[in-house]
Amino acid sequence: MSEEHASLRLIDDYARGDAGMAPDTVWALEAHLETCALCRSRLADSVVTEAPGIAALVDTVRASLGPQLDAAVPMPSRRYRPRWVSAWVTPAMAPWLAMIVAVVLIALLLDAGGAALFGAASPELLIAPVLPLCAVAASWSRALDPAYELTAATARAGLPLLLRRTTAVLAVALPLLLVEGWLTGAMTAAQWLLPSLAFTSTALALGSFIGVTRAAAALVAVWAAVVAAPAWGTGRVPLALQPHQLPLWALLLAIGTGTVIARRNTYSALRNHR
Ligand SMILES: [Zn+2]
Repeated sequence: MSEEHASLRLIDDYARGDAGMAPDTVWALEAHLETCALCRSRLADSVVTEAPGIAALVDTVRASLGPQLDAAVPMPSRRYRPRWVSAWVTPAMAPWLAMIVAVVLIALLLDAGGAALFGAASPELLIAPVLPLCAVAASWSRALDPAYELTAATARAGLPLLLRRTTAVLAVALPLLLVEGWLTGAMTAAQWLLPSLAFTSTALALGSFIGVTRAAAALVAVWAAVVAAPAWGTGRVPLALQPHQLPLWALLLAIGTGTVIARRNTYSALRNHR
């Protein structure tokens, strides 16, 4: 169809909104119209003759909208933000940045105030594996992103965008946790880094089924109930974070990553933006 133009009969049917046209014909015609100025001009002529009602409607809308647009006050120009920043984080990055910092600070305070209370199961160590995951969910949440609908409608809305946001979140969360562990001496990176990456990849993988935010909430709930609460009860480093469990976390990371790759085409579905 790219070498020859659409037939006039086809264009007339399309202009009338003929419900009898096969969906693949409509699809091919629209794809051709996007690239062919001649057929677009034929369509414009066809709308005038074949669908005068639509042409009149468009003229009416244009006539009533014109003065309003002329009178509209232009939006004040936005603060300058480099293009690469917009490519990697959400337009509303303040909420999740604040959340990461607040959680890290709360864990620091808890640890300073109650070292005896928590024993070896310091709050930082129990929060570190799930904090990046919460931040990823927040950066992907439609509730925290006013531009969510615009983002969801773009061609990049699927996995590439999710991975970019995840990378941006990890770039903030992981160094903060490293510094915190170094400051307090309560945890080593070997203990929490692999679990947190495994949790994040599992959340993304589960997110392809039930939505990233819901997946993150479920994982945090399981972690809190199965690992964190018992560890605070006993005051010992939980079994899940002992060094000999690292191969299991590596396995979980591999499974999560594999699932994300296998289901990469499902992330553009709207429900997975929740
Ligand atoms: Zn054409």
